[in-house]
Amino acid sequence: MALIVQKFGGTSVGTVERIKNVASRVMATRQAGHQVVVAVSAMAGETNRLVALVEALTPSYNKREYDVVVAAGEQVSVGLLCIALESMGCRAKSYLGWQIPFMTDDAFSKARIVDVVGEKMRHDLDAGYVVVVAGFQGVDANHNITTLGRGGSDTSAVALAAALKADRCDIYTDVDGVYTTDPRIVPKARRLDVISYDEMLEMASLGAKVLQIRSVELAKKYSVPVRVLSSLEENSQGTLLTEESNIMENVVVSGITCDKNEAKITVRGVPDRPGLAASIFGPLAQANINVDMIIQNISASGETDITFTVPHGDYQQAMQVLQQATQVIGARDLLGNPEIAKVSAVGVGMRSHSGVAQKMFQTLASEGINIQMISTSEIKISVVVDEKYTELAVRALHDAFELDKEMPGRISG
Ligand code: ADP
Ligand code: ASP
Ligand code: MG
Repeated sequence: MALIVQKFGGTSVGTVERIKNVASRVMATRQAGHQVVVAVSAMAGETNRLVALVEALTPSYNKREYDVVVAAGEQVSVGLLCIALESMGCRAKSYLGWQIPFMTDDAFSKARIVDVVGEKMRHDLDAGYVVVVAGFQGVDANHNITTLGRGGSDTSAVALAAALKADRCDIYTDVDGVYTTDPRIVPKARRLDVISYDEMLEMASLGAKVLQIRSVELAKKYSVPVRVLSSLEENSQGTLLTEESNIMENVVVSGITCDKNEAKITVRGVPDRPGLAASIFGPLAQANINVDMIIQNISASGETDITFTVPHGDYQQAMQVLQQATQVIGARDLLGNPEIAKVSAVGVGMRSHSGVAQKMFQTLASEGINIQMISTSEIKISVVVDEKYTELAVRALHDAFELDKEMPGRISG
């Protein structure tokens, strides 16, 4: 008997028919003799609908109340799934975040997990129940409802698996695994049989929304074996997340990602003195705005330009914060461009192969795509380009790195 956490995303529970399909899968696992904890998202489109209701009232809403509203979608789906399971003769019990309790900090709309109390779930599992937990939501120390950020049910599922020391965590979605790139952009993208935690971390942080990045961080930290599978296909093979040492052959590039969710900001004419970068990024950190790529030019005649990217959703607030900061430090001006995209190539094999950057730049050049920013890490290269070239860049790079071909040890023929 194993303890298995299964997570079903929005599309998988998007209709009553699909909820019945999920219930059948859960029941089959239960009948095979396993204990099952299920994490569920809101029905497809529901969280977007709730966010739009909030935004229709005011752009500067109270984040605590935002979480109260957007957490509501998951309450419906856990209840519906339990009703479906019970109607098939499978005993099931639903829990909202606060009932577990699924403890988080109080960073509303992007709360971080502090503790997941396993006691009630263990008790129910031992009594023969399937435990169905609302993904995406938690509760802070003052009993306020919190949410984990968009796509957060993946993180809920992995946190449940880690807390309960589950044998595995199966993430069911609408594609049958992690692909060499988003299969909706490149239909000939191929499913990877395995991917290392580090590659998946990069892919998730660079725009592959198939898994929320924090779910991958947690999986790596607690060595949770995670599989990504399709709930819509009968015999989905899926992709296994694993340690790099378990991967037979390291291909140079294993995936291409894109992210339209960032905006570019340039502070021009910053006096070149110690402490001024801190005066720019300090106020952004105080406003809880994450900065991603940063470029600082060499100083010409005692001044420099600093360019960086922030999440799209934080762009307006970042510009407001920086209007003040640029005046205080005496910078010349502030420029913003929200119409950019970050396109990246990821692969652990880059550690030992050269020439990837050159191939990437050459490919983009031959498509006439201008590169605005570049950043690299050991296993990825990212470029910022004009948003309108996103899909073209992804397709061209997928072709250039021959990702539609067989990859020994990664993609079976
Ligand atoms: P869920 O609602 O199940 O959480 P999501 O919509 O959050 O599902 O994530 C699944 C989607 O991720 C897919 O439909 C696909 O379009 C997208 N995606 C982006 N990059 C990739 C990739 N490299 N491999 C697989 N899917 C990807
Ligand atoms: N329902 C939430 C969202 O749409 C959480 C999730 O689906 O993972 O972001
Ligand atoms: Mg998701």
